[in-house]
Amino acid sequence: MAKGLYIHIPFCIKKCAYCDFVSFTSGDFQKYLDMLFLEMEKYKGEEIDTVFIGGGTPTVLSAEQLERLFEKVNSTFNILPDSEITVEANPGTLTVDKLKALKKSGVNRLSIGVQSFNDNELKVIGRIHSSKTAIDTINLAKEYFDNINIDLISALPESTKESFFATLKTAVSLGVQHISCYSLILEESTPLFKKYEKGELNLPDEDLEREMYDFAVSFLEEKGFNRYEISNFAKSGKESRHNLKYWNTDDYIGLGISAHSLISGVRYENTCDLEKYLSGEFLENSFSLTDKDRKTEYIIMRLRLKDGIDETEYKNRFLNDFYNEFKDINDKYINLGLMKREEGKVFLTLEGVSLSNTIMSEYV
Ligand code: SF4
Repeated sequence: MAKGLYIHIPFCIKKCAYCDFVSFTSGDFQKYLDMLFLEMEKYKGEEIDTVFIGGGTPTVLSAEQLERLFEKVNSTFNILPDSEITVEANPGTLTVDKLKALKKSGVNRLSIGVQSFNDNELKVIGRIHSSKTAIDTINLAKEYFDNINIDLISALPESTKESFFATLKTAVSLGVQHISCYSLILEESTPLFKKYEKGELNLPDEDLEREMYDFAVSFLEEKGFNRYEISNFAKSGKESRHNLKYWNTDDYIGLGISAHSLISGVRYENTCDLEKYLSGEFLENSFSLTDKDRKTEYIIMRLRLKDGIDETEYKNRFLNDFYNEFKDINDKYINLGLMKREEGKVFLTLEGVSLSNTIMSEYV
């Protein structure tokens, strides 16, 4: 089976206040690409059917560097016809030259980090762009691409029901094909968390957060977006094939600083230290997943999907009957109306989604 390929570009113009991803505001892009190309050699000839260039902000690279990256990807791997090839971009970093370079290189999907169309919220979370810049970027991108995701964040500081609804309405009006909408997670190492500790953040409470999520589901479904994963909504046929590999726990190769790979039941974790990476010390850790690890990971990831656990696939993978193996947990949540079993699938109901962490933890 062909694998997914993830490539991490760890550079951004400015660090956002909520971000704990491995990304730097300065660095030698050329040197980083050279080391990335060296790392790629380990996987020469691998069959790939999804590529995702993420970060960081991959579109801080120049048009020439982006072209060179794809030339190397295409000459190293066996990229199958009809592969999904996505690049992450940020408003304010996409130019006509870069869009042309991406198109010419075979990219067929863009994922644009917008987070909100409210200028006040954007300012509080330290984004480099305004709402207008985001709208202009999306409109420009649409001249070159017909498969565009935008990332949004709900429950941002200062957000209200009205501002969140307005953001969603703007997103839909722009005619994109996919919307990811995760709730804000306050990561301990971030400036936003420090503000939170000092009591300086005006955050929506849990009830409002839940209301925002319910509105997103009903509004986006009414507009033709299917909630195929807890936080991901797509027009028919525009689901992210690359991310589905993660949710299906299928094999993928991750390259670049902090990237992870999953290959034949072994997880590989690259270093998060830029100096080490640039000196050619790519791998930090690797370990074989036990059968129990593989099962648990599969159940937790698949429960994120609207389709949930496919009982036939579970039997093929683990030579066991999912429903009976976890009968007590399955019966309990089905009786509570938080899960359902239909047509060989076991999945969370919408009510179950709000308790997903608790439910998932019972399978561990
Ligand atoms: S643009 Fe993305 S990766 Fe870069 S700092 Fe902001 S959230 Fe983090």
